[in-house]
Amino acid sequence: MGVLDSFSLAGRISVVTGGARGIGRALALALAEAGSDVAVLVRTPASADDLVTEIEQLGVRGLSVTCDVTRPEQVEAALATITEALGPVDVLVNNAGTCVHRPALEVTAEEWRSVMDINVDGVWNCARAFGARMVERGRGTIINIGSISALIVNRPQWQPGYNASKAAVHQLTRSLAAEWAPHGVRVNALAPGYVRTEMAPVDDPRFKPRWIDDAPMERAASPEELGPTIVYMASDASAFMTGSVLVLDGGYTVY
Ligand code: NDP
Repeated sequence: MGVLDSFSLAGRISVVTGGARGIGRALALALAEAGSDVAVLVRTPASADDLVTEIEQLGVRGLSVTCDVTRPEQVEAALATITEALGPVDVLVNNAGTCVHRPALEVTAEEWRSVMDINVDGVWNCARAFGARMVERGRGTIINIGSISALIVNRPQWQPGYNASKAAVHQLTRSLAAEWAPHGVRVNALAPGYVRTEMAPVDDPRFKPRWIDDAPMERAASPEELGPTIVYMASDASAFMTGSVLVLDGGYTVY
């Protein structure tokens, strides 16, 4: 297989959680552009209908499935729906996430629980369900969206629950990678720096001096800039890569 051919996802079936907007939407389109059929899991029915149209305009099959990733029974139902409609899943991108931008003493018990439920249990629920089928088949790849927040502590927003949740995602990635490598299943994490979405208010005057002005490249990424990296991680181009946390942060963590 040639170098460029190894990046092709033609004939593959991919799933992106939280795919209706932000990074998930851009990753779904990138996977489709590389040739994969793509199913997106969304909390709100019909919120990704326009995305499915865009995916299908790229010449592959698109599907939107309503699923709250914190609910294991909904994840199992989504897996069954996707498998029946498209076939067995080759690529899972655990992208759905949330953040509370506040210091520890201002975070409520409910907020802490919600961050852990979505960012940790959500990743676990999907990796467990989709990973079980991949292990059975002896092939598949899972990419968990981690964060540089697992590596550094952000100020001035602190966001302790988010930082802890992403550290859990990174270590869960390594753990599953080690367990499932003998079964032909690769598990990696992508750890982005700041990306211009609703989650990261990069222009907020409280955060901009530290998040943007102090960063080596003095800018945030666009969601689309993560696309080529997800194609690399999902495809045979990264066939020898498992248990890795790939940092994509414009140099933010060098300081
Ligand atoms: P957004 O807030 O823009 O989008 C989050 C997405 O997750 C939405 O589609 C949302 O759906 C979905 N979601 C949240 N909870 C659930 C749930 N329980 N079930 C299903 N879907 C859910 O965030 P980003 O696009 O910025 O973030 C995407 C991922 O990237 C997250 O894991 C985040 O932590 C990570 N990340 C983001 C960075 C950034 O700077 N933006 C940096 C590093 C990592 P809905 O539309 O229904 O709310």
